[in-house]
Amino acid sequence: MTAARRASEYGERQRWFQEVLREAGLQGALLSSPISVRYLTGFTSSNSMLFAGASGTELFTDPRYALQIESQAEADKKTVAGGVLLHAVAASLRRRRIRRLGFEAGHLTQEGYQQVDAALEGRVEMAPLGNDLALRRAVKSPLEIEAIRHAVAINSQAYERAMKRVKPGMLESELAAELDYQMRRLGAEAAAFDTIVASGAHSALPHARPRAVPIKANALLLVDMGAQARGYASDMTRMAWSGKPSRRAARLYGAVLRAQWEAIHAIRPGVTASSVDLAARRVLESEGLAKLFIHSTGHGLGLEIHEHPRIGKSEECKLQPGMVITVEPGVYVEGWGGIRIEDTVLVTGDGCEVLTPTGKELRVL
Ligand code: ZN
Ligand code: ZN
Repeated sequence: MTAARRASEYGERQRWFQEVLREAGLQGALLSSPISVRYLTGFTSSNSMLFAGASGTELFTDPRYALQIESQAEADKKTVAGGVLLHAVAASLRRRRIRRLGFEAGHLTQEGYQQVDAALEGRVEMAPLGNDLALRRAVKSPLEIEAIRHAVAINSQAYERAMKRVKPGMLESELAAELDYQMRRLGAEAAAFDTIVASGAHSALPHARPRAVPIKANALLLVDMGAQARGYASDMTRMAWSGKPSRRAARLYGAVLRAQWEAIHAIRPGVTASSVDLAARRVLESEGLAKLFIHSTGHGLGLEIHEHPRIGKSEECKLQPGMVITVEPGVYVEGWGGIRIEDTVLVTGDGCEVLTPTGKELRVL
């Protein structure tokens, strides 16, 4: 991945965004979400604002990022010393004589909105942006797919390394720490989300937090983890059983695995997200387990762990080549435990490719 290839990708995205603004009758947009800023310019920081418009792309940050913005960002750069970014942004907007300005309604707070409005002395009409950025981000470029493959590889390798170290008496929190440590050692920037390690009945909580309690013997062990590398996320859930799996565990595991298999085989360009969800749901229904499947089948992922499209019951969005989604049906039995199997999957020209290489047997510890 060369710097030049990356740079041209940001330029392309900015030109596309200018076209979106033009069609919406906006002279520009003010972007404050770090993900949007990163997607359009490559710049990563906790404090930035991006003006994007027909008259140029101007990126504002504070002096802590002065060196970074020079080497990283693809835009006109403004480092604002000793003050609020907004004042510099407002001055620039006045200079450019902006009258209609788009903003991210899902991100800018009420307070932020009022500040922008006041700084522009009420002379600018503020219009919420549509979901064009989210829709475009759902379809990954070859460079983005490369980054996700890298995150997936780190994820799976870290899982193998950490699971070899599981021993009797190990705490859920210790295994979570080991998974995070191995991901970091393999080059991840961070975990893509808080690693989930849940044993026994605790695994019935889909978003369980690891506890400082020993991993139970003769019980389920659920690990849901993701790596973030080059900004992009992976997501995987695998199940293990310490000892010989009970008949109930084997039966439910088999059903969830079939549901996941059917959902994966339903993925191809042009099908709706809901039809993929339905494929998983039907299998669980036929086993009398539909009520135990309490979430949607998956979600898009990329710069964020949850992105468009949602793979759920009433999602009419059509899948396209280049989308990267998870497939993660599960069943949850209160007081006993939960079973979920999750892969990161790329939608290809004629079907899909499961990116996650980790085996899907119920692992026996
Ligand atoms: Zn997950
Ligand atoms: Zn997920």
